[in-house]
Amino acid sequence: MGFFDAPALNHHEQVVFGHDVETGLKAIIAIHDTSMGPALGGCRVWNYKTEDEAVRDVLRLSEGMTYKSALAGLNLGGGKSVIMGRVRDIGNEAAFRAFGRLVDSLGGRYVTAEDVNTTPQMMEWVHEETDYVAGLSPEMGGSGDPSPFTAWGTFVGIKSAANKAYGSDSLEGKTVAVQGLGHVGLYLVEHLSKAGAKVIVTDIKEERIKEMLKIKNVSAVAPDDIYDVEMDIFAPCALGSVVNDETIDRLKCQIIAGAANNVLSDYDKHGKILLKRGVLYAPDYAINAGGVINVYGEFEGYNEKRSYSRVNHIYEILQQIFTRSADENIPTMDAADAIAEERIRKIGRLKQMHRSGKRLFSKI
Ligand code: NAD
Repeated sequence: MGFFDAPALNHHEQVVFGHDVETGLKAIIAIHDTSMGPALGGCRVWNYKTEDEAVRDVLRLSEGMTYKSALAGLNLGGGKSVIMGRVRDIGNEAAFRAFGRLVDSLGGRYVTAEDVNTTPQMMEWVHEETDYVAGLSPEMGGSGDPSPFTAWGTFVGIKSAANKAYGSDSLEGKTVAVQGLGHVGLYLVEHLSKAGAKVIVTDIKEERIKEMLKIKNVSAVAPDDIYDVEMDIFAPCALGSVVNDETIDRLKCQIIAGAANNVLSDYDKHGKILLKRGVLYAPDYAINAGGVINVYGEFEGYNEKRSYSRVNHIYEILQQIFTRSADENIPTMDAADAIAEERIRKIGRLKQMHRSGKRLFSKI
């Protein structure tokens, strides 16, 4: 099958391959949809086994960004980029400046940012060659680490789910199991503890757990035991695919709501099982949008307060998703997709003038 026939290409507007022999850069930028604005999405460095694997990943991730930004109410399209190889081989100034030139050649249709295995330093190198970089450090004029915003959005999302499941969004006395105490998990545990929840945490790194045990109402279990603890809410904040054939029967909770991407290993199958069991699942790309909402602020002149106030909208967005899921008896992921697609259709139509992506960005 040829590249243009690949099902994964699914309505992508543009896919750009960039190669620089001197530095060994092999990069792919995928622009899924710019109806709502410039395609924003991070740049991932990964040692893909094959080019096919890299193409599939970048297409999947860029499509995901279109939905995430649309659902969050942002005037952004979806894009993503991947750089093939190992950080130790490719994570240098020359390669990232070559990548910056590739980004710049798209004239603002694609705006890059940090993602897995890319660092603030790498983005500063990219910035030497292009203005189309978001999420730079505050010293560089950017909005910095998105994690506190992602964590706050996840906390707000958990409250929204509690409101739907229990008729009140108070987390006082509720038991929340948090898997993963990284950039997002750490902040989330603090918010939950302050809200009076009992928090059970786990991580594969002992020192992270030790740190968390200093916080009120926090206890810990071994990584694999997190699925079996008595809990009201499961908040996955480590890896994807943690709700799978093996774990789904072990989780005795009423809500699954965490920051991790791709929580359900099979959206269709596990989404339907959760719906049938009455377990409320907060779609990952709705609840973890705090980071992209914060970065979006850079397009208008960054203002932290406005970012937090926008992130608070995740509460209402989830209410809409839960209501639609209940009304139509469909998994929450399907409800979220439908709401995102409607927004792209209705508002995207009005925004044709921004299709180049450049106008919106050049306002700053
Ligand atoms: P991170 O890498 O800082 O933290 C992940 C933590 O999970 C680490 O402490 C790691 O030791 C732990 N972990 C790994 N495997 C584990 C396991 N099997 N059991 C328990 N713990 C395990 O990542 P992060 O930035 O905190 O992001 C967490 C999740 O949220 C990721 O899935 C990420 O894709 C997603 N996310 C993050 C952001 C953000 O702003 N950082 C935004 C959107 C989505």
